[in-house]
Amino acid sequence: MAEKTGKVLYVEDNFENRVLIRRVLEAEGYQMFEASTEDEAFRQIGDHHPDIILMDINMPDMDGYTLTAKIKAKPEYKGIPVIAVTANVMRGDKERSLGAGCDGYIQKPIDVDILTEQIERYRLKKDNL
Ligand code: MN
Repeated sequence: MAEKTGKVLYVEDNFENRVLIRRVLEAEGYQMFEASTEDEAFRQIGDHHPDIILMDINMPDMDGYTLTAKIKAKPEYKGIPVIAVTANVMRGDKERSLGAGCDGYIQKPIDVDILTEQIERYRLKKDNL
């Protein structure tokens, strides 16, 4: 498999989740950036211009839907695909993530065997715009 070279920002409050996903994606060749707060997320986006953002929905300071909406409200960032990552499996959750401007939706626990496939699919979608 060809090495991936994309930049991924993972917004997540849970340290263990960040360590796990960093390990998986760095092994695939991605460059990983992380944030656990809104301020950090905007700093990482501004500094590193990620190709894709993985967005945890349940965070103590703010929910990922609200943060996604704030990112998508900025013209310079709205083209970055945001994938919602959530353990919420309630009805309407997918609609809510799409309504907030998320480009996709994956369920926790993250299936690391298909994560890169999902990331590449959303990157491809962006490249075709
Ligand atoms: Mn969380």
